[in-house]
Amino acid sequence: MVNQLCSFGPQLVQIGSLMKLVTFTAGADERVGAVDVDRSVVFDLSDEITVAGTSGLLGVIENWDDLRAELEASVASGAGQDLDSVTLLAPLPHPVRNIFCVGKNYSEHAREFGRSGYDSPTKSEELPATPIIFSKATTAVTGPYTDVDPHHGVTAELDYEGELAVIIGRGGRGISREDAFTHVWGYTVINDVTARDLQREHKQWLLGKSLDTHCPMGPYAVSADEVGDVETLEVETRVNGEVRQAAPVKDLIFDIPELIATISAGITLQAGDVIATGTPAGVGIGFDPPKFLVSGDVVEVSITRLGSLRNRIA
Ligand code: MG
Repeated sequence: MVNQLCSFGPQLVQIGSLMKLVTFTAGADERVGAVDVDRSVVFDLSDEITVAGTSGLLGVIENWDDLRAELEASVASGAGQDLDSVTLLAPLPHPVRNIFCVGKNYSEHAREFGRSGYDSPTKSEELPATPIIFSKATTAVTGPYTDVDPHHGVTAELDYEGELAVIIGRGGRGISREDAFTHVWGYTVINDVTARDLQREHKQWLLGKSLDTHCPMGPYAVSADEVGDVETLEVETRVNGEVRQAAPVKDLIFDIPELIATISAGITLQAGDVIATGTPAGVGIGFDPPKFLVSGDVVEVSITRLGSLRNRIA
């Protein structure tokens, strides 16, 4: 298994020269920028966005068709500043509403979760017949390199879940599978950090999924056309350098069109909504005994062409 995992490890960090949008601070203000990864430079686009009558990365997403060419021209002609001189926040640091999430959406993970007994005492390894949708509170969102609060005294069973997240561009209700990708603006990386004891004891998953800082996001928001075929992406999670999760997005039980069709059947999706698509096998409770996170651990989640989160447990 390890050989197979390592085989695609190095290319995960090769994310080329695509324009990647970020929210960052360099002083007090939150700014929107584009990162050139190869040159380690960030271009501040906030003034262009303000002139266009909007603000923030959400404003960019809402006005993408009008703004894109101008922003690309600004990057092409701009000087940029050293990426190391700024602090990256989550690309959408203040989501309008909760992050939509999907439970048990990779078959091997559904089985390990069933075996763990956290789902039900019967330890059923049955796969879900329909998507399991839950959410994380907006206040859980934190930056791509920010420390994660272990919430000692609230939880003793801290776990990681590396995931591909979809960012909605054009909202809508009753979106069909066929139209679903026309509503996708792009993608980012999420660690769906989970307090397993709270998840188990409170039945509904909101508490166990929503503690402050338990949703690292980023580092970039990458538009769908720059990502290409999303099913070719690979998700990999490492804890202190050890590969724990690795799977291609094509292994999702319910694919992105199915998730969008399911959620939007009766809920209007909005620009800037984020859907975390589920996590592969290899979470802490998948091991016997479980491998929970402890203070000082460093969790990295990488996705092909989207970059890497790297968060230390405080
Ligand atoms: Mg998850």
